[in-house]
Amino acid sequence: MRVLILGGTSEAAALARALAGDARFCATLSLAGRTRAPAAPPIPHRVGGFGGIAGLADYLRAERIDALIDATHPFAAQMSRHAVAAATQTGTRLLVIARPPWQPVPGDRWITVATMPAAADALGHTARRVFLTIGRQDLAPFVAAPWHCYLIRSVEPPDPVALPPRAEVIAARGPFAEADERRLLAQRRIDVMVTKNSGGSATAGKLAAARALGLPVVMVERPAAPPAGNTVADAESAHAWLLRVHAETTAERGV
Ligand code: NAP
Repeated sequence: MRVLILGGTSEAAALARALAGDARFCATLSLAGRTRAPAAPPIPHRVGGFGGIAGLADYLRAERIDALIDATHPFAAQMSRHAVAAATQTGTRLLVIARPPWQPVPGDRWITVATMPAAADALGHTARRVFLTIGRQDLAPFVAAPWHCYLIRSVEPPDPVALPPRAEVIAARGPFAEADERRLLAQRRIDVMVTKNSGGSATAGKLAAARALGLPVVMVERPAAPPAGNTVADAESAHAWLLRVHAETTAERGV
């Protein structure tokens, strides 16, 4: 069974590990190419955009893909829209791995906003020490709020020209333990944190740390996801779905 995994997440990596070496599947992992030195995947991979919906549809046909797995990040909304459209056009089975969003618990001081500019607005006009954990692509609204001091953490350092004037960068890849997060927030005298509602356990330690220290968190909600039909919450369930589809199609062919 020929499988294309749209990746860039820990779920995609976990599914690739689960399929590696399984002769029932011929799986390829697709990466956008944002990370300069991604960890070497255990299955064949390709890097870079497909060229929109038409490009992805062409790829699905040319590679005779039986199942497309959208395991992209919850904020990679364009790729997910393209996956739905290209799968529909080509009649390819589509499964989405949608990591559940984080939910506030008692003690949380979340300020929920819909967009990154709204997150920058929510910081207000008084200078604050801000921990920005939003990646390196959405910094422009914070450049427009230069009176704050920013501690920016991303997997790869942002382009220096994209930084607000008073910014310090930490390049680091999760998971991050709660105790380390608490130490970081206290040592840097952080007043407020800004994060995307990515969900997942690898980076949830920062939320527990903010709760413990009584810090507010500006939480940017996810962009709307396109209606996609089959959806699971994790790589394990996606693997189970693929095994089921494989068994069904094998039985249909009378193999
Ligand atoms: P996006 O805005 O949804 O996608 C922009 C374009 O990038 C897509 O139209 C597609 O180009 C290309 N692309 C995206 N994911 C791809 C993939 N897995 N394989 C091949 N091409 C891909 O995506 P994004 O928010 O920039 O995210 C880029 C990648 O980083 C994704 O793989 C995502 O899983 C990962 N990521 C994103 C975030 C985040 O916060 N956005 C966080 C962690 C990881 P074409 O139209 O040319 O096909």
